[in-house]
Amino acid sequence: MSKHEFQTEVNRLLHLMVHSLYSNKEIFLRELISNASDALDKLEYLKLTDEKYKELEQPGKIVISFDKEKKLLTISDTGIGMNDEDMVENLGTIAKSGTKSFIESLTGDAKKDSHLIGQFGVGFYSSFMVAKKVEVLSRKPLEEKAWKWVSEGDGSYEIEEAQKEDYGTQITLYLRDEAEEFADEWRIKRIVEKYSNHIPFPIYLVNDKGEEEQINRASALWRLSKSELKDEDYKEFYKQISHDSEDPLLWIHTRAEGTLEYYTLFYIPKRAPIDLFRVDYQPGVKLYVKRVFITDEERELLPTYLRFVRGIIDAEDLPLNVSREILQENIILTKIKKASVKKILGELKKLLENDREAYEGFFREMGKALKEGIYSDFENKEKLLDLMLFKSSAREGYVTFREYKEAMKEGQDKIYYIMGEDENLLRHSPLLEKYKEEGIEVLLFDDEVDAIVMPTVSEYDGTPLENIANVEEEGEVSEETREKFASVIAAMKAELGESVKDIRLTNRLKESPAVVVFDKNDPDIAMQQILRQMGQEVTPPKPILEINPRHEIFAKLQEKGDEAVTRDIAHVVLDEAKMAAGLELDDIADFNARLNRLIAKAI
Ligand code: ADP
Repeated sequence: MSKHEFQTEVNRLLHLMVHSLYSNKEIFLRELISNASDALDKLEYLKLTDEKYKELEQPGKIVISFDKEKKLLTISDTGIGMNDEDMVENLGTIAKSGTKSFIESLTGDAKKDSHLIGQFGVGFYSSFMVAKKVEVLSRKPLEEKAWKWVSEGDGSYEIEEAQKEDYGTQITLYLRDEAEEFADEWRIKRIVEKYSNHIPFPIYLVNDKGEEEQINRASALWRLSKSELKDEDYKEFYKQISHDSEDPLLWIHTRAEGTLEYYTLFYIPKRAPIDLFRVDYQPGVKLYVKRVFITDEERELLPTYLRFVRGIIDAEDLPLNVSREILQENIILTKIKKASVKKILGELKKLLENDREAYEGFFREMGKALKEGIYSDFENKEKLLDLMLFKSSAREGYVTFREYKEAMKEGQDKIYYIMGEDENLLRHSPLLEKYKEEGIEVLLFDDEVDAIVMPTVSEYDGTPLENIANVEEEGEVSEETREKFASVIAAMKAELGESVKDIRLTNRLKESPAVVVFDKNDPDIAMQQILRQMGQEVTPPKPILEINPRHEIFAKLQEKGDEAVTRDIAHVVLDEAKMAAGLELDDIADFNARLNRLIAKAI
């Protein structure tokens, strides 16, 4: 017998479980059945692809039994099983890094945590919500030795060699007094019907008379016709495959017949999966061939920008022993993928048109991922552009490109945008002044991904896009004004020297004295950030300071500015403009000193 300590994260999770943060305790059974079903899936696959397993004869099934008096509940399967090493690996640690970092992020605040925990799969450890002791007896199909894992969920577990005739896993729960209700025929039947009706293996309950009675439909839900299924069936199946505690936003159930036969059932969750922006995210779509599970680890069944989609692809025309390695090049899968993307994007478009509020909710959660498609899925670029929502200088809420175009002023021939990281700064950018005055709407690209994605969009539906920071306006300043301010500009240039690329007059400002813009050929602020994140060293390009000749500051400076005042003003104006653009100041103390001197003088 050997004693082991749980990994820290497991202890945290167990602590949460035992202190029953999660009010919906009955889901432990769904989790254990789902594990059993996965174990059966894995063995089915081996039987089909590996000679060694062909001889195995036990039918794939799950059996639940209970003892009311002793408060015992047992769940057995004839699946892939575990040996001692597997047990240490699987039942003592949390392997999935997404889940691990999620647990690390828990706050310790019971209420918040229990809400969070409903959003991810609690798995095997949820058995400790109802059990004071858990025993896992297991044997792998081609191994002689069986193993028993035992824990009371108190920081450690034990593993010892054991006897087991059938291969597979048997989990025994020693129920807590307050959870004895689960050792009950009626209760078990109801839970199984609710959560596990459509797992593709039969579940039997051993009744009073010792007979095995099948208590689920064991039909692959995705193969049933829509008319046979109720909304509730779809929702519960979603919860089973996604471990989400919330209902899905929508589902798309398709049966394709003809040259290519397949079934797909896709779900869009309401909330972004916790690992959506992790490089090691878990794919959400499982591949089946002729109802037989093949893999849930293939990330290319759908394009990566649709990695929030959960569901099932079941192909009729693939060989059962299709190797996981060649899946990506498989022409049938490529066709299914293409048709599926079309279908999913089509449904999202319908949602956008028919239920704006729901769509906005979806976009807030998943929009960033969806945007990646704009540069990675050339074929669907137009469709994806139609699905984008943006904030705008001219209205509350979101606007689409189409709506922007419909509201364009007569004579306006461009879609204008401004890019940056801070919505509030963008909304108050001096660059917007002219557009506001003229009643021209400007889109606010304030998502980090916009800086990568939007430069690849040169036009929408024939109308070019233009970054308003790149619009050059100096040409519009009259010769007379230029002459008038020539000496002020020369003095400022002499003072600011190398800290600016240029100083010039502009017509684009109304209230603000000045604005900084960048040379079109220099990388913009967002792009610089990306280059840095990629580990490149970037010397920030120097700003061009554009000044507003109509502003009082410069009118007065031109009339009567002495040298010292001009020097201070040059710096203060530049620093203010930099702040408005979200840039950092080189020397805050210097800015304060100059500003204070000017204030003192003004008094
Ligand atoms: P998850 O199922 O999300 O991976 P769990 O904590 O529920 O997480 O289970 C951890 C691992 O333990 C599983 O991935 C699987 O490898 C193993 N496991 C759990 N239950 C069984 C079972 N009935 N048969 C075989 N392996 C199992």
